[in-house]
Amino acid sequence: MNYKHNISYLDYNATTPIDPRVLDAMLPFLKENFANPSSTHHFGKTINEAIKSARTQVADLIGATDKEIIFTSGSTEAINIALKGVAENYSEKGKHIITVSTEHKAVLDTCNYLENRGYEVTYLSVQKNGLIDLEELKKSLRSDTILVCVMFVNNETGVIQPIQEIALLTHEVGALFMTDATQAIGKIDINAGKIGIDILCLSGHKMYAPKGIGALYVKKGIKLPAYTHGGGHENGLRSGTLNVPSIIALGRACEIAEQEIQQDAERIVSLRNELENELLKIPDTFVNGSTENRIHNVSNICFKGFDANVLIGRMKNVAVSNGSACTSAIVEPSYVLTAMGLSDDDAFASIRFSLGKFNTKEEIKLVVKIVSELIKTSFRYA
Ligand SMILES: *Cc1c(COP(=O)(O)O)cnc(C)c1O
Repeated sequence: MNYKHNISYLDYNATTPIDPRVLDAMLPFLKENFANPSSTHHFGKTINEAIKSARTQVADLIGATDKEIIFTSGSTEAINIALKGVAENYSEKGKHIITVSTEHKAVLDTCNYLENRGYEVTYLSVQKNGLIDLEELKKSLRSDTILVCVMFVNNETGVIQPIQEIALLTHEVGALFMTDATQAIGKIDINAGKIGIDILCLSGHKMYAPKGIGALYVKKGIKLPAYTHGGGHENGLRSGTLNVPSIIALGRACEIAEQEIQQDAERIVSLRNELENELLKIPDTFVNGSTENRIHNVSNICFKGFDANVLIGRMKNVAVSNGSACTSAIVEPSYVLTAMGLSDDDAFASIRFSLGKFNTKEEIKLVVKIVSELIKTSFRYA
């Protein structure tokens, strides 16, 4: 790819670079194609046509129709619109929501907000492999359950939940099924309608489009209240002049993903496996999460006895991540890993390698070499 830097970037789950073809598609809309798509003059109509095509490109990737796609500023906003919207519009049926303890903070914090407003939220646990237990879900479902929200692919471990089965069980009690598919879109072929998804969110910057753009899929027939009030844009859900350049970019990114999903997956999985097999040769290492039900681009590895923060700090020119979070000077272990039964020490010793389509074989070899050397020369705490 044609962005020159000397970083081995293995942090694609945090954010991706923009595909140069995506950038090319959006640039004219930052320059000469600047009209407001709501304007009735010819210039505005041209832009509106481009927005329509982008909407179709997004819809096509997930097997939806144009009317079911709402552009947002990203997944966090899409999640807020959906969770708060369902809570408000379906409260007559009930005030019970089911989600999972390993969801992204955008879901967990919004659920917490709803709990403070009289809703009851059940947080399902996960097994050692990161998967939910369908029996636990069955027992948690009630006649007053209005929504089940389970992420498609976990951002830290890459674990893929049994979405179709979850949707089926959810619909048996007449509740809606929502999935945060941010880490799945563009990586797995998804037909939202076919597998029973009612609401889904995706984010541009996790799939080679810019930051600050995303989309919400709301299945036809589901009514949500306005999130921002104004001109009635986006089916009345999210008023405000559309972010035209970024929408064009997201559309192009979806079009590319649809065409190249298979070839990307095959190439990336072989790089990921090479990386993982080599790193697992280091004594006292293991993979976190299911290796069967897992996305092709992620390897979350525990280097037992080490402090991942220290290791990452010493890795010059390698971008990887750990799930620990700094909250007011106290470093907390990854809540995703501890929910899977890892000790705090093992969670602190874990590193997420997340690959993408611009990684090369040379890069992987280099990272293996750097990490292996680093482990040999670093202090082992336990
Ligand atoms: C990145 C991410 C989000 C947040 O998306 P933004 O577009 O950055 O708001 C939500 N869920 C998952 C799983 C993510 O990886």
